[in-house]
Amino acid sequence: MKVKNKFSSPLWSDSLMASNAFKEIKKLVAQIYAQTGETINFMEVCGTHTMAIAASGMRKFFPKELKMLSGPGCPVCVTSQCDIDRILAIAGIKDVIITTFGDMMRVKGSDGKDLHSMREQGADIRVLYSPLDALSIAVENKDKKIVFIGVGFETTAPIIAQTVFHAHSRKINNFFITPLFKLVPPALKAVLPEGGHKISGFILPGHVSVIIGAKAYAFVPKKYKVPCVIAGFEPMDIIGGINLLLIQIKNKSPKVETEYFRAVNMDGNKSAQAIMKKVLKIASAEWRAIGSIEKSGLVLNDAFKRFDAFKFFKIKQYLSKEPKGCICGKIIMGQALPADCRFFGKECTPSDAIGPCMVSSEGACAAWFKYEGQK
Ligand code: SF4
Repeated sequence: MKVKNKFSSPLWSDSLMASNAFKEIKKLVAQIYAQTGETINFMEVCGTHTMAIAASGMRKFFPKELKMLSGPGCPVCVTSQCDIDRILAIAGIKDVIITTFGDMMRVKGSDGKDLHSMREQGADIRVLYSPLDALSIAVENKDKKIVFIGVGFETTAPIIAQTVFHAHSRKINNFFITPLFKLVPPALKAVLPEGGHKISGFILPGHVSVIIGAKAYAFVPKKYKVPCVIAGFEPMDIIGGINLLLIQIKNKSPKVETEYFRAVNMDGNKSAQAIMKKVLKIASAEWRAIGSIEKSGLVLNDAFKRFDAFKFFKIKQYLSKEPKGCICGKIIMGQALPADCRFFGKECTPSDAIGPCMVSSEGACAAWFKYEGQK
């Protein structure tokens, strides 16, 4: 699945390359539209792609018959409201230190609180760049319980699994995680109901694919006849990926191709897969707006379940209401664009966000607000 992307260039500023790429895209879109009369809807599954597309401004060069939709690949955006509420419940417990990546700080719970506001009110909440730093905090604070917020996809899960394994080996017993990991392939199934979906092709996440390998997506063209290209995150990677998708459609030959072959192979990263397998197991997971998807998440396996913060603090799952009027769910399913939301850029902005798509640095609403304005 190594594919030569004839537009590969590390330089977005290479305007001649970009202009040739857009000419080729326009030509292919016109040919396909002439045959089908239908708009081409590509979904960029990953939030990092969403941000790269918005930041580059490439959307304005696309013909109107080509649309790019965001998908369920922003970890903060897909975390269910119930799970956000459960995290905030733990943050409110005495003698707990919450450790987290920064994106989770401003995601609001059902009652309007977030980790940021709880920290202002005295909760001990610390933003880290690596979960391994949480182990040092645990060693230095033996009288406290240290909880790392474990949300993310196959990219994040290995390092958090490694951290749990270290805690186990070093007998650090005051360290816990919230095991809320999600898997990308089952999410693709959720946006592809049999019959009736409007996705013409997927730009698949480069970093997740480094871990799981290209063959993890083979079911998409096989079962759903939808073209797939794994792309890197430079603008010319994405442009090249779109070009490859269009060629697959034109040739009526859906398959999984890898534009990002400098990092992705067929089988993925075996070491990362091994540590995930050692510490985690596949389970159903709750997704924002989608609900429970069978075998779409990773939780701690029996040998490591004592590190599960929800179990230790006996925080159960319960029904939580998503913010009224927020359409994050539709946006991550490719059914709406941020500008379709009546709150976008008015009541909801990055500094005072209603839903997670405006909070996360990978959220579609944040990307549109920052780079594309209201359209
Ligand atoms: S603009 Fe705000 S309220 Fe609307 S969908 Fe996005 S995050 Fe939700």
